[in-house]
Amino acid sequence: MRVAVVGGGMAGLAAAHELASSGAEVVVLEGSDRLGGKLRLEKVGGLTLDVGAESILARRPEGIDLIRAVGLGDKMVHPQTTTAAIWTHGALRPMPPTVMGIPADPAALAASGIAELADPRILPVPTEDVSVAEFVTERLGRDVLDRLVEPLLGGVYAGLTDHLSLRATTPQIAALGEDLLTAAAAARAAATASGPVFAGLVGGVGQLPAAVASTPGIEVRLDSTVRALARTSDGWRVSVGPTTDVEVIDVDTVVVAAPAPAAARLLAEEVPEAAFALAAIDYASMAIITFVFDDAVVPEGSGFLVPPVDGTFIKAATVASNKWGWVGESGRTVIRTSVGRAGETTLLQHDDADLAGRALTDLRRAYGTLPDPTDRLVRRWGGGLPQYDVGHLDRVDTIDRALAAAPGLEVCGAAYRGVGIPAVIASGRAAARRLTAAGTMDA
Ligand SMILES: Cc1cc2nc3c(=O)[nH]c(=O)nc-3n(C[C@H](O)[C@H](O)[C@H](O)COP(=O)(O)OP(=O)(O)OC[C@H]3O[C@@H](n4cnc5c(N)ncnc54)[C@H](O)[C@@H]3O)c2cc1C
Repeated sequence: MRVAVVGGGMAGLAAAHELASSGAEVVVLEGSDRLGGKLRLEKVGGLTLDVGAESILARRPEGIDLIRAVGLGDKMVHPQTTTAAIWTHGALRPMPPTVMGIPADPAALAASGIAELADPRILPVPTEDVSVAEFVTERLGRDVLDRLVEPLLGGVYAGLTDHLSLRATTPQIAALGEDLLTAAAAARAAATASGPVFAGLVGGVGQLPAAVASTPGIEVRLDSTVRALARTSDGWRVSVGPTTDVEVIDVDTVVVAAPAPAAARLLAEEVPEAAFALAAIDYASMAIITFVFDDAVVPEGSGFLVPPVDGTFIKAATVASNKWGWVGESGRTVIRTSVGRAGETTLLQHDDADLAGRALTDLRRAYGTLPDPTDRLVRRWGGGLPQYDVGHLDRVDTIDRALAAAPGLEVCGAAYRGVGIPAVIASGRAAARRLTAAGTMDA
């Protein structure tokens, strides 16, 4: 049976891998001139580095399972250091143990000087969805939210906690229950016993897309933007290519693995209710600015996060050469800075030189003197991360219900139930399995 996968990011490739492994003939239609979506390798200062996603949560199986399945298992590594800091109140301060920013050791928090813990309030977990900000502030005060939870979520979602859904973005916090501090201490103690939290690949996680795409049974077509989807009597018709020269491909089933705005356009005719819910999902834009310095120039540690209340330009810095052994082996210092949160639309209107200059100024304020970098690269990620605002999971349920009435059509990707690489792989696999389970493969 023939399946079209729309979008060659990790979700689409994971779906393609699952489908091809169960015997389907899969064509991945990717609109841009490269595979991988938010995974991307580029050369900076003579080194080939990740300039999009760079690490994979190892506490979930899907990412590492796929790495092994496509033959990259021997390149899998774990960070050399996970000592992170928060840059606040004018200094880099070691991050105390937390569960997504909820302090797991109030004494360590006090010693760090990062935030003042308000008198904790023991309150029931609401049954309806609320914002992360509302939930945390009511229980632990605004300072813990602003200087611990907010920078952590800013790193993962590029979002602001006043809008982000507790249930969709931080189910770990909701799961702590009524007594956040006691439960965070217990959860943290349990977590440290169970192995490394993150994994990467020697040479960069950006190698994963091509390895997945080389699975027998997967055909990849680049520069192939899908314009429309239409139901036929026995499957789906996919319209591909420039509007002046549209090609039609008939397939049995379709997996839409494009971000929400594109998915909304593609579903508008056939599944309008899903398209409407997809169109309500906002995205945040950001940029990763990578600096390469000739020598070892910064102290140990994997980098730092910055609370937005402090008004700095960068929101985080990762010292890739400290974090990943294979980067450090170059003998040079590689620092990735990230800028851009939801709603900061003007920030990315600066040109590359300006973005890099401002980011370097912040790095110098944080680390003290730094030499001029030998090279730097600005990679913009317009519409980089979907925003799971309050009520997000209801929107996803609406999409699921509407799609149930469109046999042979599935969606997957970061827009739904998790933005991290393992989550989007899980989403792609689940979409593929729904298609095979529905028996449409045998039609
Ligand atoms: C800067 C940045 C850093 C990140 N760092 C990490 C990290 O370290 N670890 C982690 O786990 N996660 C990280 N993430 C999140 C994670 O990388 C993404 O959420 C995930 O890779 C998204 O995968 P996806 O397949 O859903 O979407 P995408 O990667 O966006 O792929 C979708 C693909 O669809 C294509 N497409 C769109 N429209 C069409 C169309 N009409 N026709 C054909 N093709 C189309 C696009 O060109 C794209 O290639 C990061 C995200 C960003 C932006």
